[in-house]
Amino acid sequence: MLNREKILLVHPLGYRYEDGQVDISRLAIVIPPLGLAGIAAYLDERSVDNEIVDCYARPDAFDRIRAYLEKETPGFIGFSCTTSTFLNGVEIASWAKRILPGIRTVFGGAHVSALKEDAVDGYEAVDYVVVGEGEETLFNLMKAGDSEIPHVKGIVYRDESGAAKFTGFPDKQLELDDLPFPAYEKLAGFPERYKLPIFNYPSVPNASCISSRGCPYSCTYCDRSVFRKSFRFNSAEYLFKHVTYLKERFGIRHINFYDDQFTFHRKRVVRFCELMIRNRVGITFNCAARAEHLDADLLEKMKKAGCWMISLGIETGDQELLARHRQNADLEMLRQKVHLIKKAGIRVKGLLMIGLPGETEKSIQNSRSYVFSLPLDDLNLAKFTPFPGSPVYGEIKENPFSGSFDEKWEEMDCMTFSFVPKAMNKERLEELFTEFYKSHFMRPKVMAGYVSMIWKSPDSWARFVRNLFSFLAFAKTNNRIR
Ligand code: SF4
Repeated sequence: MLNREKILLVHPLGYRYEDGQVDISRLAIVIPPLGLAGIAAYLDERSVDNEIVDCYARPDAFDRIRAYLEKETPGFIGFSCTTSTFLNGVEIASWAKRILPGIRTVFGGAHVSALKEDAVDGYEAVDYVVVGEGEETLFNLMKAGDSEIPHVKGIVYRDESGAAKFTGFPDKQLELDDLPFPAYEKLAGFPERYKLPIFNYPSVPNASCISSRGCPYSCTYCDRSVFRKSFRFNSAEYLFKHVTYLKERFGIRHINFYDDQFTFHRKRVVRFCELMIRNRVGITFNCAARAEHLDADLLEKMKKAGCWMISLGIETGDQELLARHRQNADLEMLRQKVHLIKKAGIRVKGLLMIGLPGETEKSIQNSRSYVFSLPLDDLNLAKFTPFPGSPVYGEIKENPFSGSFDEKWEEMDCMTFSFVPKAMNKERLEELFTEFYKSHFMRPKVMAGYVSMIWKSPDSWARFVRNLFSFLAFAKTNNRIR
């Protein structure tokens, strides 16, 4: 007999690897599934029994899933998926249905929120999709009797004829200060098993945290299907409590704010910094920001409050390409903001990508020259990926002449060029990508910066040295699994 008051929450890995193989991405970074941990805490508050299995952090994830299903016989199994992990989630869902016939499967996350009915049609193992934020919708779904399912807002279900139906968005979005802190304690091995990228933190243990949802901008490459265009946020007071909770309960010394736009609401950030300074919390933090929402006074406050690094979305250093894909495309303004961050004594990481529609060899050269003229401390160069739900995805599908698109979801993880712009070919794109990265790291100034990490981030160096051969092999072959 299945227990409808119980759910297993799973964070799928997205690909297979054999025993003894090394997955470079998991050596480099393991981020806690904060969405699932938030849902777990919300369900706990309402006495709905739940457990989380994070396949990223646990090599023994499959044994743990099987053990939970067999012992607890939950009525539901939920999956939080990106585009690259969706099919793996579907595979686990079919496997779960074989172990526990009658279990209901629920999928959430960016990919299914963008696809809605299309994430149910054609996928027999998918019973329900939660569109948008999951806490309340999942709870309502679990509580609903079969006849009430069509009235649960925010889901896709199958009607009597078997057709997928979206019930529409809930009337209200959640008040973020009403939500409990994520159930970090349900992530087996937290915080030690979770790792920020090497050279991206000064001390361990560290944690990630989200304090806002949504973004009002409309960059063409960004999918905002889950939280949509509004910007909602935790108050400074709530955030301060969250940070002190992480310190007191788990001994956290550094936090990575995973918000899309940490500084969008300036007053909130000022107040949060004041609380951090006044109470001498002694925790450092990183955040991501959009250049328009940074200024000298704010940066000075952030530095005093413990800000260690800011990641800045630059995307491309080619003016024309930038103007095609984002608002306020002003490379000079971006340059000034990079200098302001440095002047405040905060490290700055540039977030870029190559392969956007319209990209050419010339635009990559322009981007490289621009980036190398900036005093960046770190760089993340992603391979552009047209995710379902992003405006550019629709454009590419409608206009096949913009380039070639090999829509293999399992490979759409920003580590593979699934789209090749029309002026280029894949091999050349790969070559330019590798050259861009290598030439960045080989610059004496950049190298000196990484050497200084020996005392600024000793744990990063220890990880780097421990995994040196794997990193070198990756740099040579670009193969994630070896
Ligand atoms: S890329 Fe950043 S700024 Fe642009 S829409 Fe997405 S979250 Fe907003």
